Amino acid sequence: MDFVKPRVVISKCLGFEPCYYSGQMFNIDFIDKLGKYVDYYPVCPELEIGLGVPRQTIRIVRNKNDNKDLRLFQPKTEKDLTEKMNNFSEDFLKQFDALDGFIFKERSPSCGPQNVKIYSDIQGQVIHQDGVGFFAQKANQLFPFTAVEGDGRLNNLQLREHFLTKLFTFASFRKINETNRMKNLVKFHSDNKYLLMAYDQEVLNEMGRIVANHEKLNSEKVYNLYRNKLIEIFKEKPNYKSILNVLNHIFGYFKNELISDEKEFFLNIIDKYRENKVPLSVPIHLLNAWIIEYEVDYLKDQSFIEPFPNELVDLTDSGKNNDRLR
Ligand code: SF4
Repeated sequence: MDFVKPRVVISKCLGFEPCYYSGQMFNIDFIDKLGKYVDYYPVCPELEIGLGVPRQTIRIVRNKNDNKDLRLFQPKTEKDLTEKMNNFSEDFLKQFDALDGFIFKERSPSCGPQNVKIYSDIQGQVIHQDGVGFFAQKANQLFPFTAVEGDGRLNNLQLREHFLTKLFTFASFRKINETNRMKNLVKFHSDNKYLLMAYDQEVLNEMGRIVANHEKLNSEKVYNLYRNKLIEIFKEKPNYKSILNVLNHIFGYFKNELISDEKEFFLNIIDKYRENKVPLSVPIHLLNAWIIEYEVDYLKDQSFIEPFPNELVDLTDSGKNNDRLR
């Protein structure tokens, strides 16, 4: 399958420069491997606003006069870095016409995509831990149609596959969106049908109605409506039952071709997948072999079979953040 190369902004300390406040750099195999399939744009917002390496730590602090207003401070020097960081983030991000994803260093008051500590005041205590770094927040505002993940969560198999699926689907949508042609949107919807079904059947149906365009809207409006639904459908990783449903749907294409031993073998594998004994790639590989053997052209183009380059399939898993292994 041909993939559009996603455009990804990434925290520079994740293998590009030892720019962490302590002078560290973090080498992560997956990020390294992914580099062959995406265009990375590394950035260290703290370096860019003039903080050196090593440097005193900075923190997000609640404004005493306004509970909702958060400021970025360096407690040791008592410098308020809020405006500098906001201005840099906006200027840096605005140079991009389009981006497909962000990979951020977790827990950083600049880059952290979630679970960042918020302090009561410059020298005070942690009041909660569900903040977002200043740069990451600007990225979310300016590029809501992107796959965003933190370095630690990418160690989890389900979250990593969800991130990759989203990233490569968004990149492919960006490409057809540039053409603004309805024909390309119809093809995109058709090629992604089973993948989207694995995420949410109801939203898939709504997307189908958008593409059918009975209201005869112009293509720009149709693309915008469709994009909003793509964001919605990828909000959560797919649930286990929907994936089983899609596997059975695709299996249905071969019911008349397969002998009973083959059918039994497949159903056995599905049971093992349900019991968490084999990863999703096992039943998918089997289905793919039949798609090739029986030349089912419609299924050959289905992104569910290969939502991101196969070379990125990696079964290592931290075991953290799991509700159920795929
Ligand atoms: S987390 Fe962000 S700001 Fe901190 S060192 Fe890494 S790239 Fe720089």
